[in-house]
Amino acid sequence: MKRAHNFNAGPSALPIEVLNRAQKELLNYKGTGMSIMELSHRSKEYDEVHEKAITYLRTLLRVPDNYHVLFLQGGASLQFSMIPLNFLSSTSSAEYVLTGVWSEKALEEAEKVGKASVVTSSKHTNYNYIPDFSENQVSKDSAYVHLTSNNTIFGTQWSTYPEITKAPLIADMSSDILSREINIDQFSLLYAGAQKNLGPSGVTVVILKDELLQKANPNLPTMLDYNTYVNSNSLYNTPPTFSIYMLSLVLEWVLEQGGVPAIEATNNKKAALLYDCIDSSDGFYNAHAKPGSRSTMNVVFTLPSDELTKQFLEKSNELGFVGLNGHRSVGGCRASIYNAVPYESCEELVDFMKSFKSEN
Ligand code: PMP
Repeated sequence: MKRAHNFNAGPSALPIEVLNRAQKELLNYKGTGMSIMELSHRSKEYDEVHEKAITYLRTLLRVPDNYHVLFLQGGASLQFSMIPLNFLSSTSSAEYVLTGVWSEKALEEAEKVGKASVVTSSKHTNYNYIPDFSENQVSKDSAYVHLTSNNTIFGTQWSTYPEITKAPLIADMSSDILSREINIDQFSLLYAGAQKNLGPSGVTVVILKDELLQKANPNLPTMLDYNTYVNSNSLYNTPPTFSIYMLSLVLEWVLEQGGVPAIEATNNKKAALLYDCIDSSDGFYNAHAKPGSRSTMNVVFTLPSDELTKQFLEKSNELGFVGLNGHRSVGGCRASIYNAVPYESCEELVDFMKSFKSEN
């Protein structure tokens, strides 16, 4: 069986070991005579999966005890709304660092709820870098500061996070959670749709500091209130059981790889391989992101012309490379090299890029 070299931006590659395990367990999960999808979310078998996923996340991300680990639905996009609904009051203002389309969308949702402003932005250069940002840019009535850790579309990523003490720091980590070590203590809330580094779509992970939870608006509809998920261990209603099962398998796989530090080392090598190829191409390939802001997850690059880009994508497709077309806001190409994309796929892509360059 030939598997694709999957560079999709999300949903994206899953580890082959995880897919094999899910296939093996599909028809008869632990002797129940049913698949995990057919079991009650109140069953002991599902409960074990649910608890495992939470425990693995806590272990892998070194989540302190005063943080809640929650599973929600509605994607990262619902978090764009839930965050201001829960934490923005009539007397405060939310502050957004704009580094791409997803931060813009998060800001737009906050503006529907209350007062929100842009603290800094790299929009003027089509989001090709992460702007400087520090504590003194935060206003004193700030409800929270929101940033996007990795900009999936533009291929930029924060290399280090600002130390913010004046207001809670909130991060959308949809496209780089679990790709590198982070210090959870720096954040009051972080969230990620699962469909890049965590598993299939359908579940959103939220890690929420108890101190921030205490400030949540108590008058929200049940399903929009973080307290509902905290008080029920994310089992108020039927959770996306299959997605959470897959998440637990992916997390187990990360543990088997040696945890986040080992994954991070491989991710750095994969990214270096691609950026080196781009930088040593005498300008044939150009990275969209400036050095210092380059993402290890989404490598966004352009070719000399639209015609060459078209040929590159066609040829790459014929050779079994999938998902290399760039987003319309940048054009060109994007190789998404999330945790489950093998190093060998990156090597093969680099070989192809080199031969395409020499032929053209
Ligand atoms: N934030 C980022 C950084 C993303 O990359 C995406 C999806 N590509 C989203 C938010 C939106 O996620 P969802 O589709 O889960 O709502």
